[in-house]
Amino acid sequence: LRHRPTITALDKARGAFRDTSWSAAPMVGTDLTAGQTEGVFNPADPSDKVGEVTWATADLARAAAEAAHPWDVSPAERARILNAAADLYEAHQAEIFAILHREAGKNMLDAVAELREAVDFLRYYAARGQDGTDTPLGTMVCISPWNFPLAIFTGQISAALAAGNAVLAKPAEQTPLISALACRLLAQAGVPSTALQLLPGAGDVGAALTSAPQVDGVAFTGSTETAQLIHRSMAANLAPGAPLIAETGGLNAMIVDSTALPEQAVQAIIESAFQSAGQRCSALRCLYVQEDVAEGFLEMLKGAMQTLVVGNPWDAATDVGPVIDLEAQNGILDHVTQASREGRVLQQVAVPATGHFVPPTLIRVNGIADMEREIFGPVLHVATFKARELDKVIDAINATGYGLTFGLMTRIDDRVQHVTTRVAAGNIYVNRNQIGAIVGSQPFGGEGLSGTGPKAGGPLYLERFRAHPAQRSDAASKG
Ligand code: NAD
Repeated sequence: LRHRPTITALDKARGAFRDTSWSAAPMVGTDLTAGQTEGVFNPADPSDKVGEVTWATADLARAAAEAAHPWDVSPAERARILNAAADLYEAHQAEIFAILHREAGKNMLDAVAELREAVDFLRYYAARGQDGTDTPLGTMVCISPWNFPLAIFTGQISAALAAGNAVLAKPAEQTPLISALACRLLAQAGVPSTALQLLPGAGDVGAALTSAPQVDGVAFTGSTETAQLIHRSMAANLAPGAPLIAETGGLNAMIVDSTALPEQAVQAIIESAFQSAGQRCSALRCLYVQEDVAEGFLEMLKGAMQTLVVGNPWDAATDVGPVIDLEAQNGILDHVTQASREGRVLQQVAVPATGHFVPPTLIRVNGIADMEREIFGPVLHVATFKARELDKVIDAINATGYGLTFGLMTRIDDRVQHVTTRVAAGNIYVNRNQIGAIVGSQPFGGEGLSGTGPKAGGPLYLERFRAHPAQRSDAASKG
């Protein structure tokens, strides 16, 4: 967390966009009117009004589904326009950093990484969209979360558009402003208004979209519970075989054995658990440390936590920013307070008095089975294990049913083989930090309750946005 890029655009973002107000509204190919307008506020400083959003309604979502029309230009022309959009994202980097800071609470490192990932998705799917058969599914709903409000939003829609689909995009209600800027840039690059429609709204708008009869498939990233709701609604309403591409939550573990290099392990744990204030699906939630070394190791970890700077993401020194909103803050603090009452809090870092901050916290547990659910914030749980209990730990990790990320810190080669072939997780990291996608080279996605696959940022993902022979003949017989 200590090595930051020195980027003029970040300084420009801080200077030029400190008082800017942005707006978001439905961008739809229909003239039905939208719903209410509300303010959007900065999670680090709730007195800072970042902009206004005019919400879509369920009726507007249904009308947009009727107005959707696949993007019927050549794959090469779609690629040209998506690459032009990537250029526009880069040209607007200072403004994008400013919105990511003020609307989503991102610090500098996170904002830079997020823009990079979004641009990579556009260019990657622009290129891949020209390979293979050119057969869109038709109309795709893309529903995204607030934690990577530019990168995940852009990744879903760029894959769907590169394959020639019409997209109905439903960003998370916490982050409408950045998605509105992204859609303005995509429209400016040449994506037509019938091929990409934006519907800012909450779950009711998402539910209206996923149950619209015109919809041929859904790409969803968010919690496991919402994915399960969408799955049920699709089963009731959509054509059999319509794909649900779901990237969902995790209960991610790491095992540190007695041979691990302590400095290396501590650094990886700090990054994996506390970057982005723990609001990454890939984030480390439950750490298992071998009992023989646990005492000294946990002292070192607690010392490293103490050096974390929690504060306003505008400040260049900040390591850990706020969580997304008051509801998230209260939910996580309830969990921490309960652990504190039970005497299980081992370390806690100071936070500013105002803003939606949660102290980075280390909590003792007996094992991952004690964690009933994913706590989506800067809270790390730790358990110890005896050398002979390694397989029990692996069984406990697998028994959660989730399978997103897993980390192992060891210097024993045979153990790497033993553990990594037994833990069921989409992304496994050995002697390094647990992070998400690197577009093109490290596709990302989970197993079990963590997602349907195929992994985002890899070539197979795009195939789910294309019709395959059986679906094509079905569509022809319907038509
Ligand atoms: P969420 O499930 O609350 O919301 C995600 C999206 O679904 C939002 O746009 C929301 O408005 C929409 N939605 C809510 N109810 C709906 C319904 N009934 N029908 C249709 N849409 C509905 O998740 P969140 O809090 O925004 O995001 C955090 C979660 O996302 C965490 O669980 C995290 O692990 C997960 N996540 C997973 C990945 C991954 O790649 N696996 C990446 C990022 C986040």
